[in-house]
Amino acid sequence: SITVGVLALQGAFSEHVQLLRAASPSLPTSQSQTFRFLEVRTPDELAQCDGLIIPGGESTTMSLVAARSGLLEPLRDFVKVARRPTWGTCAGLILLAESANRTKKGGQELIGGLDVRVNRNHFGRQTESFQANLNLPFLESSKSDLYRCVFIRAPVVERLLSHKKGVQEGELERDDTIVAPSKTPADDLARRELEHEVEVMATLSTDAKALQENQEHEHPGAEDIIAVRQGNVFGCSFHPELTNDPRIHAWWLGEVVQAVERRQQFELAHRKS
Ligand code: GLN
Repeated sequence: SITVGVLALQGAFSEHVQLLRAASPSLPTSQSQTFRFLEVRTPDELAQCDGLIIPGGESTTMSLVAARSGLLEPLRDFVKVARRPTWGTCAGLILLAESANRTKKGGQELIGGLDVRVNRNHFGRQTESFQANLNLPFLESSKSDLYRCVFIRAPVVERLLSHKKGVQEGELERDDTIVAPSKTPADDLARRELEHEVEVMATLSTDAKALQENQEHEHPGAEDIIAVRQGNVFGCSFHPELTNDPRIHAWWLGEVVQAVERRQQFELAHRKS
């Protein structure tokens, strides 16, 4: 069976667990794996996980509690060294970013893993919360049946930090020690996972947002990046866990299954040779 954890230190974790439960039966039969869903509060629980969701909530609080629970380093290992499938929503996206701006309340320790810079509370005070029905390109069915995206004091990705360019720009704070000599097949696989560049998975046009709110748009035609992926690490600005639409959870569970299968095949191949 595949164990999927939800970081349960603060925020909307039980909503994620519910949607994972709702999503798992809808996976295609080739992916009919048995899933175990686990609320993660300790390093021991994290060690059992094949994949992890970091929920929306308050990223500063979440990172403080993670540090106090001795989870910050294990989380960094999970995402950045082992490169296990991880999905962050809203505050979770902030924590997965390599770089984030500070707010009045201050910054926080990040986990990292996504080579992006996020702008916290991007939509400002006046429009702290809004919804937009969107066609998410990675979700085939949303072409005809739009996905309701809930934004609450949401961050957006304001810059992609490429591996090569990032260093020159002095932006990338990736810890070079993670590229340690590989000792096991799993290290090799993780190293390969690290070679992925960031892909933009969804954008929000300011026009769509203004339309939703009956407002004039400030920058017609502009697009904000609201979902990105870098190999096994995925993040979105909005809160799928605050809807009762399990489609993104189903999609992501499918990705987790594939990542687990890649790992198993890789280990098998190495054992044979
Ligand atoms: N603005 C919040 C933060 O900085 C995130 C908001 C959310 O997750 N709804 O953590």
